Amino acid sequence: MKTNIEVAVIGGGIIGCSIAYYLSQAKVDVVLFEEQQIASKTTSAAAGMLGAHSELDEVQTFYSFALKSQLAYQSLQDEIKNISGIDIERKQGGIFQLVYSNQEKETLSSLLSLPTVEWYGAEDVSNHIPSVSPNIIGAAYIKDDVNVLPTSVCRGFAKSAQVLGASILDYTKVLDIKKENNGYTLYTTNGKFQAQYVVIANGVWSSTFLKKLGLNHTLIPVKGECLSVSSNSVPLKHTLFHKQSYIVPRNNGQLVIGATMVKDDWNIQPSIDGIESVISKAKSMLPEVSDMKIESFWAGLRPQTFDGKPFIGQHPEDSHLLFATGHYRNGILLAPATGQMIRNLILQQKVPEDWIEAFKINRKKHSLV
Ligand SMILES: Cc1cc2nc3c(=O)[nH]c(=O)nc-3n(C[C@H](O)[C@H](O)[C@H](O)COP(=O)(O)OP(=O)(O)OC[C@H]3O[C@@H](n4cnc5c(N)ncnc54)[C@H](O)[C@@H]3O)c2cc1C
Repeated sequence: MKTNIEVAVIGGGIIGCSIAYYLSQAKVDVVLFEEQQIASKTTSAAAGMLGAHSELDEVQTFYSFALKSQLAYQSLQDEIKNISGIDIERKQGGIFQLVYSNQEKETLSSLLSLPTVEWYGAEDVSNHIPSVSPNIIGAAYIKDDVNVLPTSVCRGFAKSAQVLGASILDYTKVLDIKKENNGYTLYTTNGKFQAQYVVIANGVWSSTFLKKLGLNHTLIPVKGECLSVSSNSVPLKHTLFHKQSYIVPRNNGQLVIGATMVKDDWNIQPSIDGIESVISKAKSMLPEVSDMKIESFWAGLRPQTFDGKPFIGQHPEDSHLLFATGHYRNGILLAPATGQMIRNLILQQKVPEDWIEAFKINRKKHSLV
């Protein structure tokens, strides 16, 4: 086993695997360390919406970054399939963001002003989705907010990175990182490794390393509970979305229904109240959910930073130490742009200055609104 490496990536969720993919595509020698299996934690809990519009309130820096990432998925689908044989199941159909009152419609005015977003009246929506709630006044139709299968994207990135020369070490926990011998020593459950660069991408568990590296930041877990159901009736073609609740159709005909937002809860067992509340919200969007059969339920921990934006960039005092963590509700959407940004920083290629400023770890603290 090679123990002298150029870039060590810690964490085998979608963020770490995307970084390993883009680095190995650029012929960088990369080893990824994953404590358990690839895609076994938060990534496996995600619904997979690429919600560049539906998820984001600010049409600012974050939006241009999110759009770039969403766009990258168009070519990734074939790229990953060709290299790894894995289908990321990018599903067209877009999102209907349901609206129940004129007041609510007003809050969507900046979304509705975008050229790719269209307003549909209630009748038009029910022409597309006959069983939609009769209480809506219409919906914003966002055709570009398609969805993917998160575990397949993550495994696709990892397998493609491997094909391109990366080493993926699963069941290998990084216990400590120390600056030594002109680089970093990683102490893992499988021995010591020397790396010139280290990327911390272990999701909500990144706090331990941030603290060790002298940064006073923590990642807050925001638990999300979901379930999947199957139906005998006509399958849904479009995602339904309302105030952070959603029903996402999968290629296999199942629907993913989510999700709660429980702050500061590290327990990944779904609760009765949590599942009850997501079912109730789903019924208010699509009443026929009541008759559907439950397939499974689960929970995952979204990694949240103090302002809801991820930390992507270099340590303020050491350009060989990088962070890619805190992707909160949007890690699936933002994985390609994050992987490309980290690759460009390591290779000293151009990264837009406003992205560096927006995502740097030592940005000014202001709390979430
Ligand atoms: C219910 C729910 C629904 C969601 N829906 C969406 C959605 O529709 N669209 C979207 O864009 N986002 C969604 N998200 C958010 C998205 O899932 C996350 O932002 C994303 O998965 C974070 O990925 P990650 O790679 O940072 O973390 P993770 O997937 O948690 O990966 C981190 C990895 O690091 C490993 N690790 C931890 N410590 C160590 C260590 N010391 N050494 C080695 N490995 C270690 C862990 O085992 C883990 O595999 C959702 C999240 C939830 C919970």
